[in-house]
Amino acid sequence: MKHINLNNLLTENLLILPKEVRLGVVSLPSGLSFSDKIEKIKKQNKHANMKFTFSNPSYSGKADKFEWANSAIIFTYDYKQNKHNSNLSSNGFGKIAAFAEQDYYEPLKKITSEFENLFSRLNYKFHTFIDNPNHYDRTFFEISGLGWQGKSTMMLSPGIGPWQLLGTMYSDQHFEPTESKNYSCGECNLCQISCPTGALDEDYILDSNKCLSYWLQSPETIPYDIRTALGNRFYGCDECLISCPPGQNKNITISKINSHDVDLEKIIISTNEDLLEKYNWFYIPKRNANYLKRNAIIALSNNPNHKTYKFYLEIYKILPDELKNYILWGFWKLGKINEINSLMDKENSHDLKLEYEKLKSMTS
Ligand code: SF4
Ligand code: SF4
Repeated sequence: MKHINLNNLLTENLLILPKEVRLGVVSLPSGLSFSDKIEKIKKQNKHANMKFTFSNPSYSGKADKFEWANSAIIFTYDYKQNKHNSNLSSNGFGKIAAFAEQDYYEPLKKITSEFENLFSRLNYKFHTFIDNPNHYDRTFFEISGLGWQGKSTMMLSPGIGPWQLLGTMYSDQHFEPTESKNYSCGECNLCQISCPTGALDEDYILDSNKCLSYWLQSPETIPYDIRTALGNRFYGCDECLISCPPGQNKNITISKINSHDVDLEKIIISTNEDLLEKYNWFYIPKRNANYLKRNAIIALSNNPNHKTYKFYLEIYKILPDELKNYILWGFWKLGKINEINSLMDKENSHDLKLEYEKLKSMTS
């Protein structure tokens, strides 16, 4: 059977790939399945109750999903292009991880929609998965030759490292497969020793219960030790990506000013509607922006400025109880928990009074 060369097809149809996008092609059926692997992580509760591809592993981890599909095209989008922000932050400011600085899935969706238009014109059948709970997006990455899974669990490519997002398009056409390669992390373990919480201690397994990125997207109450470990992170954590050698090269550019840092006070006093609109590409549990305010309170308590104590005294009474709980921890973090008696005299919530007493007992 004659296979179609995808690159020639794109050239003939004047479809030009942006330099950030790379393609891999796999012939189907592949015989692959990641369902057992996802199920095992779920059984060990290393997914920390995350839903996404863990909701239905038997389908999300299945590689050969469609009987009609003869090829899978794997798209990668390099969202950093060796431009990195400075790690420095001023007091009162919080950090957004690189993957969430903007909606980097948008450009990936734009290019896959161009493929969809072309395939529709040519009467090809296709199905696309991008950031979709029904498809484990790493399924074909390694056998397509695009790279390998690192010990950080991220998908790595030479010269790009982990700074990439993935998409998959199934097609009924027989495209020429790309050549698989033999990459590996070798003896490197820099992501494991860089992770502030030990979430990567087991090779190639992420323990989400310890992952700071996970906690910033979780609806659960964040434990005290994790709050401290969060530092001034407002959304996401980059440590295991920054430390990864294949993601670094001598041409890397680090900007002096981090334009993506957020003024944490401003977040806490914003309306929930404004926050949901401003960060519309973030995963926010139940689309409840109080979770972003929670993150901001923790980050501000870990990276306060000279006004933070006064700010907390002023806003405490106007916040809902679930955020007051974090402000109390903030008073404790600032070393001020024993100075807020008059504020707590006016507090009616039994639970908040208990939390206050607990935090006070932690100072002695
Ligand atoms: S995102 Fe941060 S906390 Fe999570 S595994 Fe990576 S380094 Fe560890
Ligand atoms: S830091 Fe090293 S061990 Fe970790 S994913 Fe990158 S190359 Fe692999």
